[in-house]
Amino acid sequence: MKSLRDSLAWAEKNGVAIGHFNVSDSEGFRAVTEAAEELGVPVIIGVSEKERSFFGVAEIKALVGVKQEQGKAVFLNADHTYSFEASREAIDHKYDSVIIDGAEKPFAENVAMTREVVRYARENHPGILVEGELGFIGKSSTLYDNVPENISIQTQTTPEDALEFVKLTSVDLFAPSVGNIHGLIRSGEPKLNIELIKEISKVIKVPLVLHGASGNTDEEVWEAIKAGIRIVHINTELRLAYKEAVKKTINSTDEVAPYKFMAEGVEEMKKLVLHKLKIFNHGPTK
Ligand SMILES: [Zn+2]
Repeated sequence: MKSLRDSLAWAEKNGVAIGHFNVSDSEGFRAVTEAAEELGVPVIIGVSEKERSFFGVAEIKALVGVKQEQGKAVFLNADHTYSFEASREAIDHKYDSVIIDGAEKPFAENVAMTREVVRYARENHPGILVEGELGFIGKSSTLYDNVPENISIQTQTTPEDALEFVKLTSVDLFAPSVGNIHGLIRSGEPKLNIELIKEISKVIKVPLVLHGASGNTDEEVWEAIKAGIRIVHINTELRLAYKEAVKKTINSTDEVAPYKFMAEGVEEMKKLVLHKLKIFNHGPTK
């Protein structure tokens, strides 16, 4: 099986992006992996600190391990991790990657915390990729009507800061703030700053990661991939698809078997993941 690093090199060579989907349970895991297998493309399972404490830090690792033993290109990322201690736990569990998120901290503090995680990773599990973030894009997977007030154009990452951050931290992956926002904004604003992605991608040699892509149009996301994005995160849209489908089924039946009333939720998540993976690997269908 290819490693995540190899899969990223493959994505770079082909000008495509690897899909990163957050899950909190085995239904989500099944939907994401089945969709990726159907298309024969690599995929990243993301679990934030809260998602992995709900799932079990070791339990989700074991499920991904089963896929990897089968030779499948399924990888596990410790998504948004806010402390060295929580990062160390994911590194000790031999996840494929970890995101140390100091984006809300001042530059120097973000650099210091990220460096500490990179150092621990290199010494203890050299295969793991460490992602750093610069530029605050919000934290929650909320549905908004308009752009939240604490996130503004001012927080977008400049190419100069990006370069300095990557040099100082030696991260393997870099997540900039380029008009992307966590959560889903119904107005579709702001648009992704494609020019900024191009500029950052010119100066940064490590793969770029786009967070908070729920709510951006297929065309925008494809433009971002063409500009140099190599991993795209989807969470809120997936949660929404899951909840809506399960709500509908539960309200319309007296069924008590979970595999029956959850099935529609899995199906709806899978449909969404299939759609996203097609875009990330081929662009929008005309
Ligand atoms: Zn994110």
